[in-house]
Amino acid sequence: MPPMKNLCSSGGSSVASPHEIAVRTDLKLNIRNSKPQKLVPLLLDWFAAHARDLPWRRTRDPYAIWVSEIMLQQTQVKAVIPFWERWMHELPTIAATAKAPSAKIHKLWEGLGYYTRVRNLQKAALVILEKHGGKFPERFEDVLALPGIGRYTAGAIGSIAFNQPTPILDGNVIRVLTRLFGIAENPKEKKTNTRLWELAEKLVRQAFSIKHPAWPACSHLNQSLMELGALVCTPRNPQCLICPVKKLCGAFKENCVEALPYLGKRETATARHFTAFIIEYKDKFLVRQRPAGVVNALLWEFPNVEVTDTKPDAATTFQKLYGVKPKIIQPLCTVKHSITRYRITLGAFSVSLAKRPAKKTGRWLAPKEFDSLAFASAHKKLASAAAKSILSDR
Ligand code: SF4
Repeated sequence: MPPMKNLCSSGGSSVASPHEIAVRTDLKLNIRNSKPQKLVPLLLDWFAAHARDLPWRRTRDPYAIWVSEIMLQQTQVKAVIPFWERWMHELPTIAATAKAPSAKIHKLWEGLGYYTRVRNLQKAALVILEKHGGKFPERFEDVLALPGIGRYTAGAIGSIAFNQPTPILDGNVIRVLTRLFGIAENPKEKKTNTRLWELAEKLVRQAFSIKHPAWPACSHLNQSLMELGALVCTPRNPQCLICPVKKLCGAFKENCVEALPYLGKRETATARHFTAFIIEYKDKFLVRQRPAGVVNALLWEFPNVEVTDTKPDAATTFQKLYGVKPKIIQPLCTVKHSITRYRITLGAFSVSLAKRPAKKTGRWLAPKEFDSLAFASAHKKLASAAAKSILSDR
């Protein structure tokens, strides 16, 4: 291969910083060889040989594919598999999801996070029952109109379940396309985002023209982009040497693979501190349900309060909240987790009471009852610490 001009280098450095790339105006698309006609067969062949055997890939049922796509938003494939299998076993049809009690869908989703997804899933199931006679709609516009379904999910269902040439663009696909086509601009910017959707559409339309006897080509093409992003074209240490499209890849040729995609400055995380009280009275613990319309709405948790001090006086805070002095209060554990841009530290204290507080909202639960309710994930950890603390006291 003739030596290429290194469009990503700057001065003596072989790899430019993302910012340097972003402001370059001479970084032209080198897509002469990267035309969809050449890329698509390579991607399809690679997918046929290397696709992971995932349970939702063994079906064309749009309901099953829809559930998998919603679960896969913000969650890794490996983590989703048991959730998806349990969900499909418990709620195997659209009607079953539409009619399931709210507590049941939250319990089935417990641990996946972002619970608005599951509430929208149920709302959409109800719409399908009412407007589409319980049959998952095939028209892209009808799918897009369902609660909780955006352009990506509608495109994924359209292509995977119905083999329609509907494009997809998520984080994995953005990474693959920006690298393949050497796109140095920020994909969050409208113009670049539009261009990426157009490229994704060109690829899937090219696949649509292929009538393969064994493969639904649109489905496989879209999934090949996701799969390549997940397995080969990873954010760090991409496996370019074994990549099926390396000969057509702009970033690989120009040695700027890890500089793409350029996502601009990262938003800085904000630290927040909470104190949680694991209040025990006669071997039962006080828990409460979060209200509607807040993060983790309708999930259960131990009483807690946000504090400004990183080392709060837990006894005083407790007394202010409940109007009684704890008999014993001592640190139990600390749970750290993130919600969106917040880095949350939850300091939990075991509280023993001489008598039940008059002022309380919530339910008193024995540890063996914890599993009957859906807890926010940090509080699920507190529940298991609370159960252990009772056992160790005996
Ligand atoms: Fe991604 Fe490397 Fe393949 Fe290009 S050659 S698509 S950068 S894995």
